Amino acid sequence: MPAVRILLAEDNPDHQSLLALAIRQHDPEADIVVVASRSQFEQRLVGRPFDCVVLDFNLPDTQADDLLRLLQVHQPDCPAIVVSSSTEQNVVIRAFRNGSVDFLPKDEAFEGDALFRRITHACLSRRRKERLRRRTERRQRLLAALVETDPLTGLSNRRHLERLSRGGGGRQVLDRRGYTAVLLLDLDHFKRINDTHGHAGGDQVLRAVAAALRAAVGPRDVACRWGGEEFLILRPGGTLAESVYLADEIRERIANLEIVHKERRIHVTASVGVAACASRDYSEELITQADEALYFAKNLGRDRVCTWPLVLFDRAVPGLTGATPHERLEQLLTQFAPWLGPVQREHLTRHARRVAALAVAFGEALDLDPGTLEHLHTAGLFHDLGKLLVPEPVLARPGPLTVAERHLLARHADDGADMSLRLGVDRVVSTFIRGHHRLYRDGPGVDTPVGSRVLCVADAFVAMTSHRPYQTACSLSAALWSLKRERGRHFDPRVVDAAVRYLARGARPARTTADVAPPARSSSAVRRHVIDVLSGDTTPRVLAAR
Ligand code: GH3
Ligand code: MG
Ligand code: MG
Ligand code: MG
Repeated sequence: MPAVRILLAEDNPDHQSLLALAIRQHDPEADIVVVASRSQFEQRLVGRPFDCVVLDFNLPDTQADDLLRLLQVHQPDCPAIVVSSSTEQNVVIRAFRNGSVDFLPKDEAFEGDALFRRITHACLSRRRKERLRRRTERRQRLLAALVETDPLTGLSNRRHLERLSRGGGGRQVLDRRGYTAVLLLDLDHFKRINDTHGHAGGDQVLRAVAAALRAAVGPRDVACRWGGEEFLILRPGGTLAESVYLADEIRERIANLEIVHKERRIHVTASVGVAACASRDYSEELITQADEALYFAKNLGRDRVCTWPLVLFDRAVPGLTGATPHERLEQLLTQFAPWLGPVQREHLTRHARRVAALAVAFGEALDLDPGTLEHLHTAGLFHDLGKLLVPEPVLARPGPLTVAERHLLARHADDGADMSLRLGVDRVVSTFIRGHHRLYRDGPGVDTPVGSRVLCVADAFVAMTSHRPYQTACSLSAALWSLKRERGRHFDPRVVDAAVRYLARGARPARTTADVAPPARSSSAVRRHVIDVLSGDTTPRVLAAR
């Protein structure tokens, strides 16, 4: 036990010695700090805490009731004992009224163990009080944790989230990067699981899903059971890309869960809605957005992740009056123009037109039938529609992308296919779009339609020969060389051969697709055509002829 630390406020030097002696003869170790004025008293109080304060009622510049108030301000838990030569009732009452825990006439304090006993009693009762307070606080914390915990899964419950939303989360929900994301997850056809395996089977699934969430989320994420078979993950600092990545990982973990109930395997999937905002505040609106994205994922067929921007796209669709998918696409891009970044706009317009034109030219060299060429043209125009859902900073990033950002980008083919269908393109066109990135993602063995393979080569060729924030355009011949190098890997050999047949006739080094007009002295009609096609200003010959 550390020595008892006592602050003694007494101006009379004889009384100082007598009071100190009265304490020390019972406790030689006592650490007694003596002060003789108000200012010294206050100065000591702002320093290390004392176990007890002994005050003479009358000091030259003040009285004990004033000092007791100072004690209240600086060390409110420290007990005080007032000593005085006067035993007038008025003095005693003033001492107690102002918070003294005891009173002792000086002559009693100087002799025997009266002062020491009172100090010991004051210190002990203070410690008891502190222990009690700590225990009460511990119990309150435990109770609060229980109230905010879901008994079935052990995750936080809605009450916990509600406290966080009221600002009760302290540092936990604040983030210096200033992003917040919400994932809302709902188990698919859970009623069927209950019906087939009983409520106990359903409960087991809920516990397994909760464990999967706990294992997947980051240390700052708050995972909670939002309702019956709905879960919410609040992500302070979560960007859209990171959150979609996490959502897809969680979706996959859930689909792969090995749950066995009464010797029967239970298979479960989940749909997830994701919303993110560039704000430190977690708001009800963000949850509503995630909820709508979740609803969208359910409508698209479940077991998938959808984001809020997709809902925004979907809301715009019924208002588009264009008669053809192409007209509706134009209208949509006009409508979204204020929100599009320059790179996003480039991908969705000029790049798309170039890819459409070149895909048709390659298709023609492959002897594809006119119907397929028509589909290829549409697929080219629509192939990057999914980039409407990829934030501009990800598309425009000059440095390498993070794993999460690459993942978000890779989703644009599937998203673009779904969105194109909503705009009324033919189902064949949507399959071309869906597959146009799969050779990149899944390697040469993947089974994709020929339209996707053509689109993939045309897309890569246009991308290589365009200026991008992360690259300068390479020449036609360099791009052609890259196609040949990746022949049979990222690119279908037949398509590369067709592209080479079509391009090699016209391509010369040091020209890029950024060059619109062919040089005056060029004698190659084919080359001029390639450049016109790549400039996006010319309808491919094959379509123009029809
Ligand atoms: P959807 O794919 O559209 O989400 O279909 P669903 O069947 O999952 O959705 P629905 O909302 O119709 O059914 C949810 C079911 O979840 C109904 C309810 O009985 C069940 N449920 C809710 N809480 C619990 C629980 O604590 N334990 C169990 N076993 N089931 C629960
Ligand atoms: Mg539900
Ligand atoms: Mg459900
Ligand atoms: Mg693309």
